[in-house]
Amino acid sequence: MAKIQMKTPLVEMDGDEMTRIIWQDIKDILLTPYIDLKTEYYDLGLVHRNETDDQVTVDSANATKKYGVAVKCATITPNAARMPEYNLKEMWKSPNGTIRAILDGTVFRTPILVKGITPYIPTWTKPITIARHAYGDVYKNVEMKCPAGSKAELVCTDKDGKETRETIYNFECDGIIQGQHNKSTSIASFARACFNFALDKKQDVWFATKDTISKKYDHTFKDIFQEIYDNEYKAKFEAAGIEYFYTLIDDAVARVIRSNGGYIWACKNYDGDVMSDMVATAYGSLAMMTSVLVSPDGIYEYEAAHGTVQRHYYKHLKGEETSTNSVATLFAWTGALRKRGELDNLPELMNFADCLEKATIETIEDGVMTGDLYLLSTLENKKKVNTVDFLKAVDERLKKLLG
Ligand code: NAD
Repeated sequence: MAKIQMKTPLVEMDGDEMTRIIWQDIKDILLTPYIDLKTEYYDLGLVHRNETDDQVTVDSANATKKYGVAVKCATITPNAARMPEYNLKEMWKSPNGTIRAILDGTVFRTPILVKGITPYIPTWTKPITIARHAYGDVYKNVEMKCPAGSKAELVCTDKDGKETRETIYNFECDGIIQGQHNKSTSIASFARACFNFALDKKQDVWFATKDTISKKYDHTFKDIFQEIYDNEYKAKFEAAGIEYFYTLIDDAVARVIRSNGGYIWACKNYDGDVMSDMVATAYGSLAMMTSVLVSPDGIYEYEAAHGTVQRHYYKHLKGEETSTNSVATLFAWTGALRKRGELDNLPELMNFADCLEKATIETIEDGVMTGDLYLLSTLENKKKVNTVDFLKAVDERLKKLLG
């Protein structure tokens, strides 16, 4: 069988530990036998980030801007323990943070559903995608402790030096205050990323804030979303048969619990932080959660939502057998290949991505799975396999699907 040809290279960002091992296995077993894989390779493994003073991370993000689609392996964000382990020159910043800042993107996380792994909320039969605004609010706050007797004020000085002042509180006892900000440009980028992603997926967008209480701060989020929707997306949404729905955050939570899923839930930064972990847990496993960073100008970076699975890596180094779940990493590849196929008009590549996803889900639904899912699955005839045997089992089914 002739290999599938690509036109434009994918930006390939390699990573660390167990996911780096899986990365190579996926390429060897499931990709290069079928595709004449064209990638521009960037090694974001911690060793190479350290060697290049983290320049490689910046270069990979700029390459993503140039080509439009990237696929990223999980990477270590160094902490104190990693300094001696990797003999680091500096405690390098999170690559994901660096890439996100350069691409100005929004992260969308979607669970992969399979028979046998029942969500804790059984009515969630379709995936809920969480879109988290990744700028500002409490994450860029300024806070103070205020002793009894102090007066706290909010002051904004405009470019001509004119002050606007509001009293926050006159403290009769000790207390605390916090200043938060956000930017209209960032909120607008977030809104556009959500609306574009919804058109791509043909799914509704839900957005919620606490605008009844926060009449300026949260209300501005509501207004910017509504204005952009009305001016730029309403007609496209109507043509696609999808909806934009705004409600209060407490009402949204109640509706989400009662829903069947199948929509994109746009969340302010803190809400997204909290809700993405709730949604991931409720659907069963972090290893079954995909993640894509989408920039407002339509650049896509695909990855797994989980980390480098450090514990399995140390077992692997000792020569012990591992049973690490490669599904989210596999879906990062299929997402990126499908998007490349779409942009370059390569139906064969898109079909390959569909077949590989189908083969992966069929393998698990046939009862062949890694240890993490084996513990969760309610299937009767289930079998735990090691990391590589899982990929081989996927390959058997992939071969059949590709004919
Ligand atoms: P982790 O996601 O690697 O692991 C968390 C827990 O989930 C562990 O118990 C692990 O065994 C389990 N798990 C996760 N993915 C799994 C899989 N595919 N198969 C089986 N089990 C799986 O997170 P961590 O342990 O907190 O962090 C390890 C490293 O990963 C850290 O250095 C951290 O900086 C990095 N990290 C990177 C990213 C990223 O690149 N996107 C995200 C999170 C953490």
